[in-house]
Amino acid sequence: MTTFWCERAWTGVEEVVDGLVVEVVGTHIVATRALPEPPGDAIRLAGLTIPGLANCHSHAFHRALRGRTQRERGTFWTWRETMYGVAGRLDPESCYRLALATYKEMVLTGITAVGEFHYLHHDPAGRPYADPNAMGTAVIEAARDAGLRIALLDTCYLSSGFGAPVAGVQARFSDGTAERWASRVGALRPGGPDVIVGAAIHSVRAVQPSDYPLIAGALPGSPLHIHLSEQPAENEACLEHYGRTPTGVLADHGVLGDRLSVVHATHLTSDDINELAKARCYATFCPTTERDLADGVGPSVALAAAGVTITLGSDSHAVIDLFEEMRAVELDERLACQRRGSWRAADLLSAATAAGHRSLGFADGGMIAPGHWADLVTLDLRSPRTAGTGSGTEMAVFAASAADVTHVVASGRVIDLDHRGVGDLLAEAIDAVVTS
Ligand SMILES: [Zn+2]
Repeated sequence: MTTFWCERAWTGVEEVVDGLVVEVVGTHIVATRALPEPPGDAIRLAGLTIPGLANCHSHAFHRALRGRTQRERGTFWTWRETMYGVAGRLDPESCYRLALATYKEMVLTGITAVGEFHYLHHDPAGRPYADPNAMGTAVIEAARDAGLRIALLDTCYLSSGFGAPVAGVQARFSDGTAERWASRVGALRPGGPDVIVGAAIHSVRAVQPSDYPLIAGALPGSPLHIHLSEQPAENEACLEHYGRTPTGVLADHGVLGDRLSVVHATHLTSDDINELAKARCYATFCPTTERDLADGVGPSVALAAAGVTITLGSDSHAVIDLFEEMRAVELDERLACQRRGSWRAADLLSAATAAGHRSLGFADGGMIAPGHWADLVTLDLRSPRTAGTGSGTEMAVFAASAADVTHVVASGRVIDLDHRGVGDLLAEAIDAVVTS
């Protein structure tokens, strides 16, 4: 058994407490109790300790684009072309190295579980590798080696847009038919409780609605994710093709439900919001990516008020900092509505911890409580950013950044926070797959 003592702790349910002993056996917490002073054998965690963060929407290889797609003016679609350049060069080995470095960066920032929306399946010509799941397996191994739990959201992508055939690098994404996608995914074996295999429909653009029931039914009980209404152009094209909004199309084909996370959910009608709420869906907001891509500001408050659970993701990894994502939900809402205080800090922390873990299929994650995964993330209360800001949930959400994380315990394992080493790994992995 390993014993930790948190100077201050937010466990996920109550207010911040002073002095908390956390006892860990293997990967899970077995007991917690209040104690003002650290017991002699405890690992002392000075600062505010919170549960591990869940990054619910990641494309690990997009990390190679940071600082590159911002160089010139461009649209969402020109960004996508740059992204396709990197996507065209990855093989299982370089994919592993880039994902490993990216996931190690995540762990440094307090992320202990990731939802990888994975669509890079085949070789550059679109042919399956000898192991048809070589790319997915590389991503899973990278997460394990970085110390992260992963929900591999294996993504079905069959069309370049509303039934049009895939083109260029998209050949790598496509299994040809939903049946072949299901058969490949069915062969993936998680190999332990730290890995969950879930399903994803790339978007209403990339998969025909008649295939949705097969995809949704392929992995019963597992998480199901989809990009939804990120750009007005997608909504317009969907209305033109199907006479319905993307949410309406999902509703018509039985995809909405409490396993489903809709990613972005930026441009929704009030009927869309009601449909998502009625079905008890999750909505995964990725504010730093959405601002980078000029997507717009999604209706987080209206969704939450209707009963949709908000979760968070760093998506394209323009930034990997869930503290920034948390406060962006509230601060973007302020700009959009000219009103302050729609989101409480504790509710944003819940979105980044317990709710996020649930949406990825890790129901026993995101809280410091017996029976939960032993994930502890400690924030420095004396950094230049956090000193003098108090030691409560508001400090964590509105003052702290990923750079203030001083200790990470992930699935019971104490992580060595080697910032320089992770920087070197990132530089090496990215240099190998970019051309400029
Ligand atoms: Zn995405």
